[in-house]
Amino acid sequence: MTTQYDAVIVGAGFGGMGAAIKLKELGLTNLAIVEREDDLGGTWHVNHYPGLAVDIPSATYSYSFEPNPYWSRLFAPGAELKQYASHVADKYDLRRHMRFNTSVSAARWDNEDRHWVVATGGGETLTGKYLLAATGFLSQPKMPDIEGVETFAGKVIHTTKWDDGFRAAGRAIGLIGTGATAVQLIPELAKDAQELTVYQRTPIWVVPKGDAKVPGVVKRLFARVPLTQKVVRAVGSAILEAIMVGGVLHFRQLKSFNRIASLLAKGHLFAQVRDPELRRKLTPDYDFGCKRPTFSNTYFRAFAKKNVSLETTRIDHIEADGIVTADGRKAVIDTLVLATGFDLWEANFPAFEIVGRDDRSLGKFWRDNRFQAFEGITVPKFPNFLSLNSPYSYSGLSYFDTIESQMRHMTRLFREMASRGADTFEVTEEANAEFLDRMTRKLDDSVFYLGSCQTARSYYFNQHGEAALLRPTSTGAAYKEQESFPLEAYSLA
Ligand code: NAP
Repeated sequence: MTTQYDAVIVGAGFGGMGAAIKLKELGLTNLAIVEREDDLGGTWHVNHYPGLAVDIPSATYSYSFEPNPYWSRLFAPGAELKQYASHVADKYDLRRHMRFNTSVSAARWDNEDRHWVVATGGGETLTGKYLLAATGFLSQPKMPDIEGVETFAGKVIHTTKWDDGFRAAGRAIGLIGTGATAVQLIPELAKDAQELTVYQRTPIWVVPKGDAKVPGVVKRLFARVPLTQKVVRAVGSAILEAIMVGGVLHFRQLKSFNRIASLLAKGHLFAQVRDPELRRKLTPDYDFGCKRPTFSNTYFRAFAKKNVSLETTRIDHIEADGIVTADGRKAVIDTLVLATGFDLWEANFPAFEIVGRDDRSLGKFWRDNRFQAFEGITVPKFPNFLSLNSPYSYSGLSYFDTIESQMRHMTRLFREMASRGADTFEVTEEANAEFLDRMTRKLDDSVFYLGSCQTARSYYFNQHGEAALLRPTSTGAAYKEQESFPLEAYSLA
């Protein structure tokens, strides 16, 4: 079979687009970027619920090589991220490679033809010399496993399928979940809903969000003197790095740093909620950082409104017209909002069936052994495959650090192949095992294993209780290593 494409990239979000930009720069220009949604932008296309905004400073949450001087706020609203994604696709001429409404069902390495055979849900087959999975970490919505949820007769909205025509005014809304999405959405629904009952299973750490409008004069300065925005980006990155490295990864050495973060969050709660009982309910009983913390100036305040109540009794079941808690009380509602997040480990690692050399299935390999990927990007027996959303790949707090450090890995790997006249790579078992060992040992210092995380119900942990999502190094160290990993880690042919 002839090979149709230099590479098939699955996913047209920021990860897939970053990889496409890099491949084109490396001379691989015949690309197919396959996307199951009807447009590009990934998370920022799918999510459009009220209140959606980035919660990492925008100067940092963007490609370093493509700064946007025109963000309207320090933390831009979701729609601007979607616009930014479109701008990047146009500027780097990515759109012509994209196929929308095309989901990938499976991919298999063909060892004879030395390429990947990719099957789409529509029955089409694509072949590519390289395969890149850029399906995102939070892309498989989770429906709550609550008895009777499917029998609810009113309006049901999962936050990833927001109905833009929905108006909260006059509605009695039951909202399940208090993750980062709910933290943004609740204050918006609270403005107009007749009644809003929030069902919280696990409270979340919330710290103040230092947000502000960016004045026109600053935007003009960023546009005229890009160095000024670079400085702002560096400051934002340094703060995030301090939270991540100090508060989470080096818990053993810097416990006080973690305590300061939780005190900041407690002070924020104290300043916004007068009722001690409500404060108690909203205070997490697990350590800061066990679960992704959130940033908001309006979340706690929403609970002080007369039309908003916080329900912490376990949900027993859902009926056609309401939610019944374990103590037998029923809240009659006409709208059920599911802010219940995503299935990360079961449905997303990997997001479709991937079969490598010797019939090794990636999903089975990860489940039977441990979740692992060399430098968070390649796996033994999966030649010419880059798994961008892998165990131990997520570096720092801004996703763009992960994307750009992986782009550096690609540069080093593909340049080496070019210099040796090779076009096939496969990471060795030894290099992969060494990396997994090293990451595992580093995690011993983290809040995940030294802190109190038992009650956090955090998606940082997988089904085996391992915190195998985040790369337990500073982003600086990750960047450096992606540019200097030993080339013997790969067999090239
Ligand atoms: P999430 O953090 O996984 O939160 C889901 C919520 O639903 C949790 O409070 C969870 O409770 C609750 N839940 C799930 N199933 C339930 C059930 N059966 N019964 C009761 N409660 C249930 O999901 P998310 O809020 O969508 O956020 C996911 C991630 O997206 C964030 O951590 C963040 O990384 C990202 N995000 C980023 C932004 C941004 O601005 N950049 C905005 C939104 C989201 P438990 O905790 O008890 O499981």
